[in-house]
Amino acid sequence: MTQTSVQTTHFVPADLPTSIRHFIGGKFVDSVGGETFDVLDPVSNQTYATAAAGQQTDIDLAVAAAKDAFDNGPWPRMLPRARARVLHRIADAVEAQDARLAELETFDTGLPITQALGQAQRASENFRFFADLIVAQADDTYKVPGRQINYVNRKPVGVAGLITPWNTPFMLESWKLAPALASGCTVVLKPAEFTPLSASLWAEIFRTAGVPDGVFNLVNGIGEEAGDALVKHPDVPLISFTGETTTGQTIYRNCAANLKGMSMELGGKSPAVVFADADLDAAIDSTLFGVFSLNGERCTASSRILVERSIYDDFCTRYAARAQSIVVGDPHDPKTEVGALVHPEHYAKVMGYVEIGKSEGRLLAGGGRPEGLSEGNYVSPTVFADVAPTARIFQEEIFGPVVTITPFETDAEALALANGVKYGLAAYIWTTDLTRAHNFAQSVDAGMVWLNSHNVRDLRTPFGGVKASGLGHEGGYRSIDFYTDSQAVHITLAPVHTPRFGGK
Ligand code: NAD
Repeated sequence: MTQTSVQTTHFVPADLPTSIRHFIGGKFVDSVGGETFDVLDPVSNQTYATAAAGQQTDIDLAVAAAKDAFDNGPWPRMLPRARARVLHRIADAVEAQDARLAELETFDTGLPITQALGQAQRASENFRFFADLIVAQADDTYKVPGRQINYVNRKPVGVAGLITPWNTPFMLESWKLAPALASGCTVVLKPAEFTPLSASLWAEIFRTAGVPDGVFNLVNGIGEEAGDALVKHPDVPLISFTGETTTGQTIYRNCAANLKGMSMELGGKSPAVVFADADLDAAIDSTLFGVFSLNGERCTASSRILVERSIYDDFCTRYAARAQSIVVGDPHDPKTEVGALVHPEHYAKVMGYVEIGKSEGRLLAGGGRPEGLSEGNYVSPTVFADVAPTARIFQEEIFGPVVTITPFETDAEALALANGVKYGLAAYIWTTDLTRAHNFAQSVDAGMVWLNSHNVRDLRTPFGGVKASGLGHEGGYRSIDFYTDSQAVHITLAPVHTPRFGGK
């Protein structure tokens, strides 16, 4: 099977840093003990920079700076409008340098440049959204006629620990930074070790926008070192984590000792269910984009396609032909649709699943490295048909450009297949039957459902998964709820009936 590909030029952005440092208390610093780790680019798999590897001492310093800024600084005490102005300036700055951001993100992650640009713009939009939200925010009051008025006094929780993954790193960091800062928290961000490049840009963006020193702190490092120290730190009352389910389980256990607030956005294996009455052209476009965009390194990827038997053969033939025409190659080339996977370790994992799939399904497209791309972490968009629900490639998150197709006969069978995995992040339903669409949507185990669409987000709606895909929902006011405490204040308006203990 010949894949369409574009050759790599190994484009290197101008002024690429060769060392990536922490940002603590308003200053770029190395690790106290001088520890570093190597950072590779996914096209050459060569080390292009060393990054400071944070240890317990570095996390202690970052948390101390964030705690001081929270306890004594202006940020938590500012009027919402004043904080919103700063957040809008951040959004403006991200927008103004979206091309540079995309270039660096593409270099570090292997994401296609056009998609990295879209992610940079989304990062800006996240700040704008939460800036508007805090200005419009109202809190509840409750009247007990003649007796009480009670109101909610919303307060930022304190130092928020933010731990993020390597897929779309800058955008996913914005998804946590924007609501945490909007709420008045101060933060310590621990970005993913595969992709630390773009996170360091936040420091300058925030400083220029007027975020006081100590409000934003960044500690790079390995999950089991810097991440673990942040999770266990007693002065960090809440952790927002996005990453793998198994890592989430470890963090959950480690948060228990200090009873921390937690938000967990975890893995997925989301179904796209295509009924025979669907608009087939649109369903094919959408399910291709749903799993092959962002290199398939996407938590909400529609990585299991379930297709009604009467259209199954037609769907498979058309889907496979399109998958073979997807342009794979140089992430910096605007023609590229699938770039290079983030890291050789992840590439090996995805290729391992491609080999497993060859004995679990019928290979229709891809199945290995595209011709003409002998270096870099390239995988041809890979399609397996006739995949049984017991197959590992049906059950396990691959997080790469690999999709399974499985036929079904009835609505009940489609639902059982859709729900027959441990995950429950997203589901995509393709049908023109309104009743079926709503009944299916309400029965499927998924935190988010799209009818006749791929993942198009309305930032006000809840974001998150059920089962092994997560704990709690962020998105809109729910994010503000997570980063704030809702204190109930009770005001007495009349004499209170009080039993007179000891009064005879
Ligand atoms: P990962 O779990 O390996 O790492 C995520 C982050 O956790 C990294 O910063 C890492 O350093 C840190 N970490 C690792 N071990 C830690 C520990 N013991 N204590 C504290 N921190 C630790 O995930 P990844 O491979 O970077 O990202 C891919 C995963 O993320 C996929 O499973 C994907 O589905 C998931 N994801 C989910 C969503 C969502 O919203 N549900 C979004 C994007 C990605």
